Amino acid sequence: MGEVYRSYSAYLNQVYAKRVYRIGVDGQFSCPNRGKDGSGGCAFCDGTGTVAAYQKPQDRSNEKPKVRMEERKSTIAMQIERGKKFLKRRYRAELFSLYFQSYTNTFDTVEHLKELYDSALSYGPFTELIVSTRPDCITDEIVALLASYKDKVQKVWIELGLQTANDDTLKFVGRNHDVSSYIKAANSLHLAGIGVCTHVILGLPYESRADIARTAQIVNDAHCEAVKIHNMHVCYDTRLQDWYEKGEVSTASRRRHVEQTIYFLRRLNPSLVIERLVCETPDYRLMAPRAFGDKHRFLQQLKGTMEVHGWVQGDLV
Ligand code: SF4
Repeated sequence: MGEVYRSYSAYLNQVYAKRVYRIGVDGQFSCPNRGKDGSGGCAFCDGTGTVAAYQKPQDRSNEKPKVRMEERKSTIAMQIERGKKFLKRRYRAELFSLYFQSYTNTFDTVEHLKELYDSALSYGPFTELIVSTRPDCITDEIVALLASYKDKVQKVWIELGLQTANDDTLKFVGRNHDVSSYIKAANSLHLAGIGVCTHVILGLPYESRADIARTAQIVNDAHCEAVKIHNMHVCYDTRLQDWYEKGEVSTASRRRHVEQTIYFLRRLNPSLVIERLVCETPDYRLMAPRAFGDKHRFLQQLKGTMEVHGWVQGDLV
């Protein structure tokens, strides 16, 4: 049997036929959903920001004075160098994509963004430019800036955090944006020829199968090209931790996440690239689920179940 879903590695092989790896960098951005003292934010966010395992956590501040720009640029250059060395040694990487990964990577003035992106891209060549952000941090000026890089790389992507297509859940977990802002952002990015990868979380508090189906529908309708799926997990020092300790919310076991993921995948357009299927939060940050097991076992179970039943991505679209 062929692949039961369109994996990211299959996409990269098909398009570039070489070993392409992304270098994740932290540009010391902050987040509009957090106060200057680090308060607020999404209920599931521990404020550490996602950072590639081979990188070191960067200093950040919600005040972004111009004087810090040189420091930010040189830090990014060091991260690119470190990432290249690591990915060549560990995976024999042949090509690299540049991935602005941590926090909200369009949350700055357009002038600052241009300076940072230009500087980072000068350490290329890069196959793709990938920028992770929130739907409410996409303006026409930012779209135009991102589109201007289409002649420097083969593809420009934005990773947009939607998490769920249920506005009540978005409010409950403190996202401070709604589904319509995601649709608006995705539309303007597509009009400019920029690819959209949507982040979703399965198993958010009080969500049902109907919410999962609706999220798949919205992602399809937005003509999104890729998706990253996360299982809801509880990190230390989050509001979710408080709710979890009070017994108000629970996390999915590996079996339940397999079921929910299959339910979602079968409703997603078959052309969508599946870039991620499960969280890989390091143990020192992860409160629950602790007995989930490793990603390899999860993937085995997911693929095995789909193959046995003859299910594939998009067979219910
Ligand atoms: S938008 Fe991202 S960085 Fe900001 S609080 Fe939410 S998860 Fe954290």
